Amino acid sequence: MNIILMGLPGAGKGTQAALIVEKLHIPHISTGDMFRAAVKEETPLGVEAKSYMDQGALVPDRVTIGIVRDRLGKDDCESGFLLDGFPRTVPQAEALDELLSDLGKEIDYVIYIEVSQQELISRLTGRRICSNCGTTFHLQFAPPKVAGVCDRCGGSLYQREDDQEETVAKRLQINQEQTEHLIRYYTAKEKLVRVDGEQPIEQVTETIFSKIRSRTR
Ligand SMILES: [Zn+2]
Repeated sequence: MNIILMGLPGAGKGTQAALIVEKLHIPHISTGDMFRAAVKEETPLGVEAKSYMDQGALVPDRVTIGIVRDRLGKDDCESGFLLDGFPRTVPQAEALDELLSDLGKEIDYVIYIEVSQQELISRLTGRRICSNCGTTFHLQFAPPKVAGVCDRCGGSLYQREDDQEETVAKRLQINQEQTEHLIRYYTAKEKLVRVDGEQPIEQVTETIFSKIRSRTR
């Protein structure tokens, strides 16, 4: 089964990716891992990608897509794969369709884990760190016993700038725009499977599998 997993930051994509690949025995292919491997193996495209990254420049689509093609052509993708973090844009999605058809494959499902903006912001801004010992808390998932105070050492807790609402909202907005284009693209191709990501983790996984099963052609 060839799957793309989509979701905004904070939607729980990483957690679901791990559960899905374990159940389906397919490789989890994340953009980051793919780049790191290509750079480490010093493939021609890996070397090229590294030269862009070293300059702090964006890796051009041609290079990224070539790396994806190399990766999806490997033997372990024979019985399927789960793509995570690619494609990010519609031109990348079109290039992916093309390269898959060259490989005699196609995408079966695009799973979109849907979480409301409000819930994402609450998840992404909840982290608090102890200024004394560095222990991490989360107001929603791992709250300290006393607000603002570290359970371990009594130090005061602070919020990193990256976790502040304004920064988080900006990051979400950019992602959301890109995601909406992709959702339209895959809806038109009848590949999109929407899953409510505000349910408990196991329930999200269950919903994914029941929706996939009911749509098996
Ligand atoms: Zn502490």
